[in-house]
Amino acid sequence: MHLLRCLTKKKFFSFSVKRQSICAPYIYMKKIYSLFLEVKNFLFPDFCVLCGCGLSGDEIRLSLCVNCRDSLVPVQGDKCRMCGKPLVSEKETCLSCRNGPESSWDRLCMLFPYTGKYRKLLASYKFGKKTALADFFAEKVLEAKNNDLELKEASLVPVPPRPGKIKSGGWDQVDFLVKRIKKIGGSSVSVCCCLKRRKSKVQKRLNRSERMENLKGRIFMDGAAPKTALIIDDVMTTGSTIEVCSAELKKGGAEKVYGLCLFYD
Ligand SMILES: [Zn+2]
Ligand SMILES: [Zn+2]
Repeated sequence: MHLLRCLTKKKFFSFSVKRQSICAPYIYMKKIYSLFLEVKNFLFPDFCVLCGCGLSGDEIRLSLCVNCRDSLVPVQGDKCRMCGKPLVSEKETCLSCRNGPESSWDRLCMLFPYTGKYRKLLASYKFGKKTALADFFAEKVLEAKNNDLELKEASLVPVPPRPGKIKSGGWDQVDFLVKRIKKIGGSSVSVCCCLKRRKSKVQKRLNRSERMENLKGRIFMDGAAPKTALIIDDVMTTGSTIEVCSAELKKGGAEKVYGLCLFYD
């Protein structure tokens, strides 16, 4: 009995030593990294992408000062199920969705209006390539997804980029965002990159029907569709890209298709 107790003690001792020796390099690495950040910030100070003030501590992680970060609040209150925009006096669906063309998706969610400081925010991310902002967006997407019974279990499907866009030096900001959502959300997030896109004209100056025509057959399924899909995009303008993606996902076997855009125009 005495021997058994000694062995157990020894085993426990050796385990705790092992545990400490595993944790020690991690703690040192973490300390070295935070020291590196402080030196980097001293030599090359970071500024808030919205107000331009100097950043410190955790603010650097998101490229936003605390004041600006706290002022960026997703739209509250009742929203239209079909376009995600705030409802004024309507119920469930807004007037323009009720009178507009039928959509194949089941519901859309929008986080921010594409106006004022929100425009500046997206421009800093998309064109200024402030990749730190992806974590800010990712946290907001996760908040919206995890607090919503319909969206909770859905697999994220990023809107595929135009192939020409990447070749001409652009970057896939939606794919980057989805990767950050997965990284932060961990095992609770599943991603399905089952949509691909062939080359098509730049959509900027086209209206909804021209965009639909331009995208016809250009976005297609490459792999199995998830049962419940949540399409992720940065800005919704006419909704044509989401419509084409959603129709393809439904054709591919998805039972429910939802969409979440960071901004609505
Ligand atoms: Zn600021
Ligand atoms: Zn609507």
